[in-house]
Amino acid sequence: MIDFTHDGHIHTPFCPHGTTDALEAYIETARARGMKTLTFTEHAPLPRGFTDPVPDQDSAMPLDVLPRYLDAIQQLKQAYAGEIDVRVGLEIDYVPGFAEETIAQLEPYAASLDETILSQHFLLIEGDYFPVDFSLETFDVLVDRLGSFEAVIGRYYESLITGLAFEWERLNVKRIGHLDLPIKYEKQYVWERKHVKDVETRLLRAIHDRGFGLDLNTAGLRKPDCGAIYAEAVAAEATALGIPLVLGSDAHSANDVASDFMRIRKKATFR
Ligand SMILES: [Zn+2]
Ligand SMILES: [Zn+2]
Repeated sequence: MIDFTHDGHIHTPFCPHGTTDALEAYIETARARGMKTLTFTEHAPLPRGFTDPVPDQDSAMPLDVLPRYLDAIQQLKQAYAGEIDVRVGLEIDYVPGFAEETIAQLEPYAASLDETILSQHFLLIEGDYFPVDFSLETFDVLVDRLGSFEAVIGRYYESLITGLAFEWERLNVKRIGHLDLPIKYEKQYVWERKHVKDVETRLLRAIHDRGFGLDLNTAGLRKPDCGAIYAEAVAAEATALGIPLVLGSDAHSANDVASDFMRIRKKATFR
């Protein structure tokens, strides 16, 4: 069963590409929409030595800001104790080739983290890193490099399977973020999910074997070239395997907290 009162994927004013909306404003929207549990999951600092490939290099908060972020969410947790369950988290990037550095860099903060999400936003192709969800233009470069939309999804899944092998438990990872993120631009391409079914099933089994859950992420509903919920297409198969699903709005503004949760509640896929 999906808990429709838990938003498990929320960004904050500490996000360099988000809004400056105050944390209290996020809480107000959450209350108005009937949320009981909120997990704040700001983009964790990227590993030392990795150069952010997006043009503004603003994918994540810098390492020196992390302690302030953790303090701010901890304070929020205490301020709303008894009213709303605030959890301290991060959205941690699996950057191919940098998993061990990422774990080593963030492990000193692990004791302050209630639960975290592991997400993939970059692909490594022949020695170069490419952003997956930065823009249609940068995504199209990926499709060109790999040959088809399905090839991008396939590579995204294969890369995650490789990434799952690392010791993410040391950072309190509980679930995988927006599993099929490349569908953000799917309306611009002709593709069929059945062509990636084999690798998709292998990935779901690997996630189950590792004991992780999935982030059922409503951000795709707000993207003009998507209109779908990330991971919804695998929700039934994941549930059959015993993989827990946790809703996430991926809000980067106060108004998007718990976005669409009430509307999708009636969907048969989530029963
Ligand atoms: Zn973000
Ligand atoms: Zn993300």
